[in-house]
Amino acid sequence: MNKRLEPEACVLYVIGTPIGNLGDLSPRARYVLKNVSAIACEDTRHSGQLLSSLEVRAPLFSFHRHNAKSRIPKLISLLKKGESIALISDAGLPGISDPGEELIAEARKSNHEVICIPGPCAATTALVSSGLPCDRFCFEGFLPSKGTARKDRLNNISNEPRTTVIYEAPHRLLKLLSELADLCGSERPLQVARELTKLHEEQIGPTIGAALKHFLINKPLGECTLVLGGAKPKVLEELSNSELLAKMKILIEEGLSASEAAKKVAQSSQHSKRFLYELLHKSFIPE
Ligand code: SAM
Repeated sequence: MNKRLEPEACVLYVIGTPIGNLGDLSPRARYVLKNVSAIACEDTRHSGQLLSSLEVRAPLFSFHRHNAKSRIPKLISLLKKGESIALISDAGLPGISDPGEELIAEARKSNHEVICIPGPCAATTALVSSGLPCDRFCFEGFLPSKGTARKDRLNNISNEPRTTVIYEAPHRLLKLLSELADLCGSERPLQVARELTKLHEEQIGPTIGAALKHFLINKPLGECTLVLGGAKPKVLEELSNSELLAKMKILIEEGLSASEAAKKVAQSSQHSKRFLYELLHKSFIPE
């Protein structure tokens, strides 16, 4: 039981709000929202509905990525004056693919206490309901929308051995699923959690291929979170020195430098790049 009397002066409260089901707002979150001196919210109109249903009277300050720079000093000065401030986003936990991180860092820098009143988060809700390993996992949020940044991120994700959670907008879901199928293979385990905590909540899986097939027939709608099973550890080839040399020489004939060929073969064997490079070097020295 929390014995502190909340909300306290000079404290920034980071409050988790529902991701669909209003019943998921905790009594503690409700109490603090009703009693703080001011509330910073991503969209005052969106949060206004939730807050007016709670009969919250505190002034609302819009706080989003486009006004964060100018808003942060104002909010910090309110904390300095002894006010208590709640930070909420449109849904879920502020800071998780939502604004909040910079304000929280700034509040800490200026020695204000930051207390999180935990609540729903689509990433962890999707993860624990996926049936995929939860002991170690990665959160990728939204991927870069295009270009090399997206390609590199997808490549890393496809080789990641831990379960990975990804956010995606419904109109981009098919593109992401087909990219994942190309890189990970359509048999890789995957669950798409759709409309979590809402009336039409559903899980689509159990593989990338099955989800792709489903969404090609059923247009993706609503909010989706992807939970991708981790990559299986690579089985390293056991090759003799002459087999290793032959592999590297083929790569060199294809246009790779000696160093690149050694690096490439090192990735699929149990030998270091250095060992392979030396092997290659020795093979070119006449006896
Ligand atoms: N801060 C939020 C949180 O803690 O989960 C995330 C906000 S982010 C802007 C919105 C994304 O979260 C959506 O595009 C979707 O990928 C995921 N999401 C939010 N609500 C969801 C829900 N009810 N079901 C499935 N995914 C959801």
